[in-house]
Amino acid sequence: NYSLKQLQQIDAAHHLHPFTDHKELREAGSRIITRAEGPYIYDSEGNEILDGMAGLWCVNVGYGRNELAEAAYRQMKELPYYNSFFKCSTPTPVLLAKRLAELAPKSVNQVFFGSSGSEANDTALRLVRHYWALEGKPEKNRIISRRNAYHGSTVAGTSLGGMEPMHKQLGGAVPNIVHVMMPYAYELALPGESDHEFGLRAAKAVEDAIVEAGPEKVAAFIGEPIMGAGGVKIPPMSYWPEVERICRKYDVLLMLDEVITGYGRTGEWFAAQSFGIEPDTITTAKALTSGYQPLSALLVGDRIARTLVEKGGEFYHGYTYAGHPVACAVALANLDIIEREGLVDRVKNDTGPYFAQALRERIADHRLVGEVRSFGLMGAIEIVRDKATRERFEGEGRAAVVVRDHAIASGLMLRATGDTMILSPPLIWTRETIDLACDRIVKALDLAEKDLFG
Ligand code: PLP
Repeated sequence: NYSLKQLQQIDAAHHLHPFTDHKELREAGSRIITRAEGPYIYDSEGNEILDGMAGLWCVNVGYGRNELAEAAYRQMKELPYYNSFFKCSTPTPVLLAKRLAELAPKSVNQVFFGSSGSEANDTALRLVRHYWALEGKPEKNRIISRRNAYHGSTVAGTSLGGMEPMHKQLGGAVPNIVHVMMPYAYELALPGESDHEFGLRAAKAVEDAIVEAGPEKVAAFIGEPIMGAGGVKIPPMSYWPEVERICRKYDVLLMLDEVITGYGRTGEWFAAQSFGIEPDTITTAKALTSGYQPLSALLVGDRIARTLVEKGGEFYHGYTYAGHPVACAVALANLDIIEREGLVDRVKNDTGPYFAQALRERIADHRLVGEVRSFGLMGAIEIVRDKATRERFEGEGRAAVVVRDHAIASGLMLRATGDTMILSPPLIWTRETIDLACDRIVKALDLAEKDLFG
């Protein structure tokens, strides 16, 4: 058994962390999470922390689900691994693909598996370009994305994404990807512009990019239905149907990245259903297994799948762990839990509306808060210096980190991205858990206010 100090020393000596300033990590030492149960995580010091982020937006059924451990154990004993290359398969990816086709919007019926959201987006990018090449239009290869989007950390994921600091470190992005404005009214709407009008204007930016490039050169548009890592940016309801109309008008494929929004977070199985659209591809991962196993599923539209079959020829692409039998067994058991416990419906009709109301009634009026917003069980709190003018604190992100640290010390794990506090809790949260989280947010905001204003 290692002490916290020992683990921190070994961590600092040997372990490089994702998205971490290693100089800061050295100075502060890592927080070591040792176990979890239901909605709570516990650190090595025995602190009980309510997990407002469901891990990294993934543990939708909460922690400590024996059923999922047992599904993995059973599958490992029977068949721990076999691949799905070269016309082979194993039973669990087959059954999972069928299940996903049943749950998804009717435009998508085929599934390509991987182990992460980044991998799935790499697949999606290659697949849509392959599709247009098979259709005899190899020059139709440009992808339109949005600034501030997050689509993963591989070279393709980073290139598709619109995060400037990530692009700066890339040393050369995948070519032929352009970025347009995001649909974020709080910062980008014009004075007097309604939400509806702003949504249409943000969609028009997609049309302008298509026209500028020439529709015969544009393969697809990709977007997160609700931007997650970029700060839970919820588009006006007018945005997605208009983007869909524009894509159809110019024969541009519509790709949704539902790595965060999939599997109940928005109150439907997929956010495509929340916004009433029928995409050509849907990237999913994370909550597909509630994070108990690494697994991603790219859902592929009939149009693309039909061309793959009709034209034939090999798609030179795949991962050793595509359709991993254990990960797929866990996913099936996870979907069983979500269905049996009615979690999707609960988000839509109970906890989602209650969460929105709680943020509005208990958080929005705080001096540090510029805006609260939520959709289903994902939410954001904008931290500002001045509510009326929306002026931010100096040093982007500094104030939000102060709030976050007080929140964690008060027993609530949430995330700060820029000046935005993010919440994306497990779908098992009840009204009582939401109340408890709000108590802790209010406490953190009060403490942060003292720090920031003296
Ligand atoms: N796409 C979106 C929208 C994401 O939020 C993420 C991860 O947070 C990814 C893709 C990448 O997924 P992964 O970290 O599993 O590679």
